[in-house]
Amino acid sequence: MDNHFYAKLAAQSIAGEAASLEDARAILTSPKVELLPLLNAAFDVRQKFTGKAVKIHIINNAQNGNCREDCHYCAQAKTSTTDIEDYPLKPDDEILAEAKNAYEKGAFRYCMVFAGRGPSMSRVEHLARLIRLIKSTYNIQICVSCGLLNADKAKLLKKAGLDRLNHNLNTSREHYPEICTTHTYDDRLTTLQAARREGIKLCSGMIVGMEETTDDVIEVAMTLRELKVESIPVNFLIPITGSKMNFVPDLTPQYCLRVLCLFRVLNPRAEIRVAAGREIHLRSMEVMALYPANSLFLDGYLNTKGEDRLRTLQMIRDAGFTVESDHPLEELIDNEKSSLSAATPNTSCGCQQVEMKDINDLRPALNQPSK
Ligand code: SF4
Repeated sequence: MDNHFYAKLAAQSIAGEAASLEDARAILTSPKVELLPLLNAAFDVRQKFTGKAVKIHIINNAQNGNCREDCHYCAQAKTSTTDIEDYPLKPDDEILAEAKNAYEKGAFRYCMVFAGRGPSMSRVEHLARLIRLIKSTYNIQICVSCGLLNADKAKLLKKAGLDRLNHNLNTSREHYPEICTTHTYDDRLTTLQAARREGIKLCSGMIVGMEETTDDVIEVAMTLRELKVESIPVNFLIPITGSKMNFVPDLTPQYCLRVLCLFRVLNPRAEIRVAAGREIHLRSMEVMALYPANSLFLDGYLNTKGEDRLRTLQMIRDAGFTVESDHPLEELIDNEKSSLSAATPNTSCGCQQVEMKDINDLRPALNQPSK
């Protein structure tokens, strides 16, 4: 593709026009579309609307396991045999302590996630009390992920001060029956619409790598555009032993970056989050995700660990980005280094610990059996 293609993508996106289906397909699959100019076009859009700041999210799995739904990607599903730590709703003081921790670690937003199809009215009232308590104590935004909601429940959460509701579409309408049979795509869409009508900002994204087609990915990105979703987590399937989708998806780092670029150009003003799976699917290209995406998770995901906190913060700084937080990035890095050096002296530089080669590394042929 000549430079005109990339310049047109960025200019159209900034002007609020959707890319054509043909261009969207080319972004994901055309060998003629080169990765670096594509990332640059996505970065032009990101820079225009969100600058170079990165929003850090920390998830609190406020209640884990024993879900009666069968989402095939989920370790908490009734069909999953994954060995996870089940527990009912954490006590309020534990949730509040975790909100404090998230605030002090630089989180812009604190996400509370509750397993299950959807909350009862009494659970929603409890959530509303928790939201009020956290927001009156810390300067932090609150996002809740609690399953299906109707208008009354959404109204109550909005009144309590909920900033955002997370409810992922996960995949396209057509592909949805392949990933879950206990609720439908339309159940999810209806929840998003109910929350929107009550004035709650929306967080909704997808999981890439669940055997969907590239047109399914485009459809989700377009639907989220139509819904004007403010925050879009783009997850890449983490194969979890025991879940129904325990397979290694056919994803390459380049494809994952192309997906992030597609979401950026189709949703120019949205907070695009490089979410679960960034460590394992982007690998050595991970830092490049910051060009289309302006948000990430620190401290791992629901039931899987993420990369080391210090390494993530250093990656943001090393690439010349900043964080959107009450705490400056350097302070967050220094805090991590201090806690590391208290635990293991000699790692206070924040570099990976230097390990010396032993004789087997230096002379590998010595111990090989002779033929
Ligand atoms: S994604 Fe949510 S609703 Fe689906 S199985 Fe997991 S906890 Fe249950």
